[in-house]
Amino acid sequence: MGEIIDGKAIAEKVKEEVKKEMEILKGEGIEPKLVAVQAGENPASAVYTNQQKKNCEKAGIRYELKNLAQDITEAQLISEIQRMNADKSITGIILQLPLPQGIDVRKVQASILPEKDVEGVNPANMGWIVYGRPYLAPCTALAVKEIIDSTGVDLYGKEVVMVGHSDIVGKPVALLLVDRFATVAICHIGTSQAGMLESHVRRADILIVAVGKANLIPGEWIKEGAIVIDVGINRVGDRIVGDVEFETAKERASLITPVPGGVGPVTTAILLRNVIRAAKWMKRQ
Ligand code: NAP
Repeated sequence: MGEIIDGKAIAEKVKEEVKKEMEILKGEGIEPKLVAVQAGENPASAVYTNQQKKNCEKAGIRYELKNLAQDITEAQLISEIQRMNADKSITGIILQLPLPQGIDVRKVQASILPEKDVEGVNPANMGWIVYGRPYLAPCTALAVKEIIDSTGVDLYGKEVVMVGHSDIVGKPVALLLVDRFATVAICHIGTSQAGMLESHVRRADILIVAVGKANLIPGEWIKEGAIVIDVGINRVGDRIVGDVEFETAKERASLITPVPGGVGPVTTAILLRNVIRAAKWMKRQ
C-alpha cells in the first residue's frame, strides 16, 4: 500500500524557509507587501482572499485587498495595476479571478510588472519557464515540483504523464519536469476522446492529474509503484475529492497525495515564497 504524501508538512518546511528569508529582508530594510486586486463581488474569491490575508499575516507579510467596482472597464483596471507597478511600497500583485465579463484576463495579467507577478501569470514569467529559468512561476506548478522533489525521486528518464494542459498547471508542470530530463506526455481532452488516456496513465512512473473531474482516473490504471500527484479539487456531496480514485489508487501507488491536504497547502506556501522572491527581485532594481 502506498504512502500518503503529507502536503501540510511540506508546506510547513516552505513556510519555515519563508520565515528565515523574511528576517534577512527585514535586516536589509525591505518590507514585502502583497496586494490582491478584486474587481466586483465574488463569494468564492472572498474565501481565497481571507486565506491569503491570514497566511500573509502569519508570515509577517503586509497584505492589502484592493476592491474595485464590478463595472470597472479593462482600461481602468490596467491603469490601476500600472499605478501599483509604479508604487515602490508594493512588492507583489495578485489578480483575483474571475474578472467581470468583457475584460480580457490575459491582457490584464500581462500588465502586471513581471517582477511583482507573484502568481507567475505574466507572459514574460511564463517565457522564463520555457528558457529553463523559472523565477516567478505559477504557484500550483511549483507546488507539484516541490512535492516531487520532496520524494527524492530522480526524474532522469522517468515516464511522467501530466493529465490536463491548463496554462497555470499542466503546461508549466510539463516544462518544469522536462528540464529534469523526464519523458513527459501531456494528456488532455483530445487524449481522452481518442480513447488513449488509460494507456498513457498505465505507463506513468509519475502521474500528475489537474483536470477537475472527480474519479476521472480509476485506481486500477495506476502503475504499481507509481508516484501520484492529484491536483484536482471537486465537491462531491459534502466531500472534497481529487481527480484520482484515491482508495484504489493508493493500493498500487508507492506515494500519493490526498485531497484535501496534498497539493493545496503546498500551493499556499509557495505563494508566500513567490512574494519573498518578488521582493528580492525588486531589491535589485
Ligand atoms: P482547467 O483550466 O479547467 O484545465 C483542465 C484541463 O483538463 C484542460 O487541459 C482540459 O482540456 C483537461 N480535460 C478536461 N476533461 C478532460 C478529460 N476527460 N480527460 C483529459 N483531460 C481533460 O483547470 P486547472 O485550472 O488546471 O485546474 C484543474 C483542477 O485542479 C481543478 O479541479 C482545480 O480546482 C484544481 N486546482 C487545484 C489547485 C490546488 O492548489 N490544489 C490549484 C489550481 C487548480 P481542454 O482544455 O482541452 O478541455
